[in-house]
Amino acid sequence: MPDIVMYTKTVCAYCDRAKALLGRKGVTWTEINLDLHPERREEMIERSEGRRTVPQIFVDGKGLGGSDDIHGLERQGKLDRILGLGGHTVAAPEHHRVLILGSGPAGLTAAIYAARANLKPAVVNGIEPGGQLTITTEVENYPGYPEGVQGPQMMADLNKQAERFGTTYLNGTAVDVELSKRPFVVKLDGGEVVSCDALIVATGASAKWLGIESETRFRNKGVSACATCDGFFFKGKPLAVIGGGDTALEEALYLTNFATRVTLIHRRDQLRASQYMQQRAIKNPKIEFLWDTTVEEVVGTPHDGVTGLKVKNVKTNATSTLAVKGMFVAIGHEPNTQVFKGKLEMNDLGYLVVQPGRTYTSVEGVFAAGDAADHIYRQAVTAAGTGCMAAMDAERWLAEHAG
Ligand SMILES: Cc1cc2nc3c(=O)[nH]c(=O)nc-3n(C[C@H](O)[C@H](O)[C@H](O)COP(=O)(O)OP(=O)(O)OC[C@H]3O[C@@H](n4cnc5c(N)ncnc54)[C@H](O)[C@@H]3O)c2cc1C
Repeated sequence: MPDIVMYTKTVCAYCDRAKALLGRKGVTWTEINLDLHPERREEMIERSEGRRTVPQIFVDGKGLGGSDDIHGLERQGKLDRILGLGGHTVAAPEHHRVLILGSGPAGLTAAIYAARANLKPAVVNGIEPGGQLTITTEVENYPGYPEGVQGPQMMADLNKQAERFGTTYLNGTAVDVELSKRPFVVKLDGGEVVSCDALIVATGASAKWLGIESETRFRNKGVSACATCDGFFFKGKPLAVIGGGDTALEEALYLTNFATRVTLIHRRDQLRASQYMQQRAIKNPKIEFLWDTTVEEVVGTPHDGVTGLKVKNVKTNATSTLAVKGMFVAIGHEPNTQVFKGKLEMNDLGYLVVQPGRTYTSVEGVFAAGDAADHIYRQAVTAAGTGCMAAMDAERWLAEHAG
């Protein structure tokens, strides 16, 4: 058996996770708890070449790093050899009472509540740790921040808050789920398999974009996909909305509260939106329509942001430049729910269906929160609210069903 040493602290979710993996491998180790032996802290830092985080794991004197590092080695099929085990033993899935898919406001709020209920939740980060708010700058409408807050900062704070109560984080994205029997099993893209008694799906939704290079370049500098979030920043400015459905008209109407003029650019000569919405938009003197038109390029400078849109009439091929200070893309959202197709009930647009006013999905023990189950509000505060509900629903359900 190799000589395994692990430096830990008493309250340390990552240490628990590392110990769980080694435990499943059937190996034993010597634990040096730095809360009990603070005098050995410097020794750990020196042995690990300056690392100041626990756990730090050593096998026969060689440093492997922390929990994520040994999980990475396991995913690559290298851990068994390092531990002196013959071949690659398939460890039993890491089991959690509550597993949360997604680390946006919904997932992290669910984690805070589940962790405070002592359920030791694990959060699967997904491809975008922290969720959609990590790609924006100022968030001014989340309660409790009178001066506003940077999206990435807010998500880092939520992450720390959930971790403080014992949440662990798993890197990876769920690529397959087995929900027909319990415990539920979730397979991650790195090959790791995790199981759980209750599952909270908080995988969010992604705005669809036009897909032109200049759109990406000016994102957060005049290009947005959320009027409720960003309209306020364009007081007294001319704006454009792209799209022809109900959402586009809703965004356009909302933006008339701030803008001097809103030009709705649509690639066809009629709208897909409901008659009611069309009437409201047509009656609004601030809304103009640019039919049969597509956006070729977002024009601007790094200093001034967006200054205009180069547009093309698809019938005549004539191009022109429309002077606007912002472009709001409203061509739809795509819920990140593909992995649940055929496994959880969803509506025509792919949003998960939950019981009215609750977070129960069509499978008992699986709960959904945030944008993945909400095609109407799609805000951080509503996502956080339903994240809280999902954790409370899961806790009560576990108390009744899973002992
Ligand atoms: C540019 C921009 C600016 C915005 N500004 C504001 C604002 O100012 N105020 C406001 O209230 N709202 C704003 N929003 C909307 C807000 O960001 C969303 O409503 C909110 O983030 C939704 O939270 P969520 O937790 O449901 O999902 P998301 O934030 O989308 O998080 C989803 C999470 O799920 C993970 N995930 C996805 N698929 C999988 C999978 N298969 N397995 C595991 N994990 C997965 C992702 O990695 C991510 O961590 C903005 C959105 C954008 C795009």
